Amino acid sequence: METNKNHTLVIGITGGIGSGKTTVAKIIADNGFIVISTDDKAKELMTDNLEVMKKIIEVFGGEVYLPDGSLNSPFLSSMVFGTDKNSKRNLEKLNSIVHPPVIDFMIEEVKRLEEAGEPFVFIESALIFEAGLEEGFDYIIVVDADEEYSVERVSEKTGMSPEEVRMRIEMQMSRDEKKGLADFVIENNGTEVELASSVKSLINIIKYLKPPEISE
Ligand code: ATP
Repeated sequence: METNKNHTLVIGITGGIGSGKTTVAKIIADNGFIVISTDDKAKELMTDNLEVMKKIIEVFGGEVYLPDGSLNSPFLSSMVFGTDKNSKRNLEKLNSIVHPPVIDFMIEEVKRLEEAGEPFVFIESALIFEAGLEEGFDYIIVVDADEEYSVERVSEKTGMSPEEVRMRIEMQMSRDEKKGLADFVIENNGTEVELASSVKSLINIIKYLKPPEISE
């Protein structure tokens, strides 16, 4: 990414399932920063973008959509996260359909914000490392929580069984590997109030950051 006086600092927020990415993103947005969610964008594309929908139906069949056009999430989840031996390949296929337009959206948004002279943009995305997108970010924040908390929080939020959540965690890059690739790690093993306080401390550091290429 070019470094010039109009450079918008692009900061990624990522982490494992149920680590607290969305909660961190919300706290950052509440502090007045621009936050984009690629996960929201991916969901939107799956129900609004005819090209994407067509490709998904070609791979997974018409059952992926309900008669009202909404996503049949339980069906799709069972195809890509289920116990079936094809799940891993199905997830790769789904990602190969959805990731490219999400990445295009991200690039366009950053360009637009750069032209508008925005100093910062935060991008929440579960897929930064898995999709090899690190290069597009100046700094990456990894949100990390002990597995017992992630499992409990996701089960509570989605109704998934703890076993199902653990299975999804196992499919992901390990916590240590993610933390090793991070510029900043936010530990989310306490209350939401404690999390907000950690995020605020980090924001105070980030406010004074320059792009890594021109840092002393
Ligand atoms: P996913 O991978 O499912 O997108 P995520 O990493 O974005 O999850 P969140 O959605 O932010 O994680 O958090 C998961 C759930 O845990 C949410 O219901 C959230 O309100 C709750 N949560 C997050 N942090 C805490 C905390 N410190 N204490 C209690 N609950 C929390």
